[in-house]
Amino acid sequence: MTSSILLKKQEEMNARLVRDLLRLPENKKCFDCPIKSPFFVNVTLSTFVCTRCSGLVREVGHRVKSISASKFTGPELAALELGGNGIASKIWLSCGYNTVDTPEPESDGEVRGFMRQKYYERKWLNYDLAVSHDLAVKDKINELFTESSICFLYYRMVSLGNSKDVGDQHWKATPQMIMRSIYNKTYD
Ligand SMILES: [Zn+2]
Repeated sequence: MTSSILLKKQEEMNARLVRDLLRLPENKKCFDCPIKSPFFVNVTLSTFVCTRCSGLVREVGHRVKSISASKFTGPELAALELGGNGIASKIWLSCGYNTVDTPEPESDGEVRGFMRQKYYERKWLNYDLAVSHDLAVKDKINELFTESSICFLYYRMVSLGNSKDVGDQHWKATPQMIMRSIYNKTYD
């Protein structure tokens, strides 16, 4: 299998995974406001957000990717699989947060205010959970992106591949090639 076919197949698998995660009940609403059907991923927090909030979280320094137009790296997807809006609520909207004292924000100004309290003042942050979740994500990424795991993924992709497209190139991709295709340098 040539590296370009492998890369394409990997991208298809990644796109499918993001769509599957988006279908989970906890990810059907924007993490930062009540708007339904998020179209973006906040890669910094591994949350799903709406179009408006994708711009507003950029203002607070978070990195955002469009679900339909972006390619996601393996580590970003691993973090998203372990994360999402459910666990993010337990981390960021935990200690003392309630919708009576702090109604869900509607206007851009209200969302900005909510983000300021949530991300800068860390008013409701469950610090212990934030730390333990971050460690779990890092462990998972280390476990998934070792050479032996990459070999496993490679064989799984070959078995999913169409032999007509693949031909004799099957065995020419090395684990290092797969590693390069999916372990994008954006993660550190
Ligand atoms: Zn939103």
